[in-house]
Amino acid sequence: MSENKDFLHAIVNEDLNSGKYKEVITRFPPEPNGFPHIGHAKSICINFGIASDFKGHCNLRMDDTNPTKEDTKYVEALKDAVSWLGFDWGENVCFTSDYFDKIYDYAVKLIKINKAYVDSVNEEQMRENRGTVTQAGVRSKFANRTIEENLDLFERMKNGEFKDGEHVLRAKIDMGAANMKLRDPLLYRIRHAHHFRAGDKWCIYPMYDFAHCLSDYIENVSHSICTLEFENNRDIYNWVLDTLKLELPRPYQHEFARLGINYTVMSKRKLLELVDGKYVNGWDDPRMPTIAGYKRKGYTKESILNFCDQIGVAKANSMVDVAQLEFCIRDDLNKKVPRVLTVLDPLKVTIENYEGSEELDASYYPHDVPKEGSRKVPFSREIFIERDDFSQNPEKGYFRLTPTQAVRLRHGYIISCKEVIKDSDGNITEIKAEYYPNSKSGSDTSGIKVKSAIQWVCSKAAKKVEVRLYDRLFKNEAPEGIEDLNPNSLKVIKNALIEPAVILEKIDERFQFERQGYFYADPIDYSDEKPVFNKIVGLKDSWGK
Ligand code: ATP
Ligand code: MG
Ligand code: MG
Repeated sequence: MSENKDFLHAIVNEDLNSGKYKEVITRFPPEPNGFPHIGHAKSICINFGIASDFKGHCNLRMDDTNPTKEDTKYVEALKDAVSWLGFDWGENVCFTSDYFDKIYDYAVKLIKINKAYVDSVNEEQMRENRGTVTQAGVRSKFANRTIEENLDLFERMKNGEFKDGEHVLRAKIDMGAANMKLRDPLLYRIRHAHHFRAGDKWCIYPMYDFAHCLSDYIENVSHSICTLEFENNRDIYNWVLDTLKLELPRPYQHEFARLGINYTVMSKRKLLELVDGKYVNGWDDPRMPTIAGYKRKGYTKESILNFCDQIGVAKANSMVDVAQLEFCIRDDLNKKVPRVLTVLDPLKVTIENYEGSEELDASYYPHDVPKEGSRKVPFSREIFIERDDFSQNPEKGYFRLTPTQAVRLRHGYIISCKEVIKDSDGNITEIKAEYYPNSKSGSDTSGIKVKSAIQWVCSKAAKKVEVRLYDRLFKNEAPEGIEDLNPNSLKVIKNALIEPAVILEKIDERFQFERQGYFYADPIDYSDEKPVFNKIVGLKDSWGK
């Protein structure tokens, strides 16, 4: 079953069969410098998924080695996202910063076996010395320092005797290596900065390449799964763990293709720019590709898990069509949510031959949704329909209400137009209509044929709601950043009308507004006095049509 699901499962399976590991331990290792996005969801699903498929464990580890950009609020956002997706990291969240003492000791050990040295050239010189793809690098003159000198300097770096950039600790590997990453990579740099957890204890911080493999080792990770851009870092990963001659078993790194989605940016740096520049209303803005954004918009965790599963695990980078994600949420909601009536752009209709009022029985669910539940829809002589659902000069194929074409009111009667009322500017302000008493939905004996049923609300009973219509945040397929923002990504309708049962019965938080799309009661701004709904997704893929 899970054995051959993808190439990662195959590797894990082989490693268990060969006895290389007794237990599978993976980790999801984000840097807490932003909210997690849909790409992280993919990584979460892979790491937690493999752990669960092989009855192992997955750590949630904050890769917090960069003090200037990290913050507790991002740690909380990461925890929220992982638990919302339904995964369990066990008792404690892990932090690389908890291993700073151990990582420091490993650095000292490398110095002692003459495999690391303190370099003191400036950045420009260091870049020059590194060489190019076609030309070997030159080792710094400081690489000849004695072990004692290096030990002394490294300790003084730790003690804060030097300024940022004055010295670095480098691995002594090979300045001629074809893999440029192996040309004496940096292990530590000086950074006088406050760390959100370690405080001011440290003014030197380990680099990713040094901290990551050691954190994996310290946590007994068996399979360290990361994205393809770390392929060249794998040699350093192996070099560090092998050179330190650590007790086995030790972890190995495996790469998979990063998830990319069209019309979406997924770099945390760019997402931060959108938030800081107030181009969106925070990290959980429903237009953001963050997990918090999808959640606030009304996506279900099932739709995200299903999406991650559908796209699979690949070894080569590719672009996924955002329509596939939209398909996943539409498909999930279609099977679950109640259908209700709303009017976003109301046009008054007075049914002149109707007196009094009544309540129409209406099921919340269509026949193909295996759920029970119905409500009463109030009806009276004054209703509102969608402005779009009336046309005085209809084009061919227009099936809704016209001066000569009747239409059915969903769950109610068939009506026809008697008169069109306009204001002095020629705008239609009201339709005078008549209804057919024997055409009631479910007991129609009128014999009148209509081509469509439209949504409507009773003017007296309807509730006013705010509706937020979201479109894609970026207007082109491969957006770079703010210059590609879609200026119409948010449209707020303040006075939409909704049938009262939605507000009073609260049968669900997500609804299909018939013929409009799927909507979600905004978890933050919604109140009974001022209901607010977010558009989750349209009913069909209308992009570009
Ligand atoms: P970004 O560049 O988007 O800011 P990152 O890789 O710097 O992302 P991390 O916090 O370091 O972000 O990522 C944590 C984990 O999530 C890493 O293992 C990383 O490989 C994985 N990850 C990040 N983005 C994606 C993506 N688009 N698809 C799959 N996995 C991803
Ligand atoms: Mg990273
Ligand atoms: Mg990054």
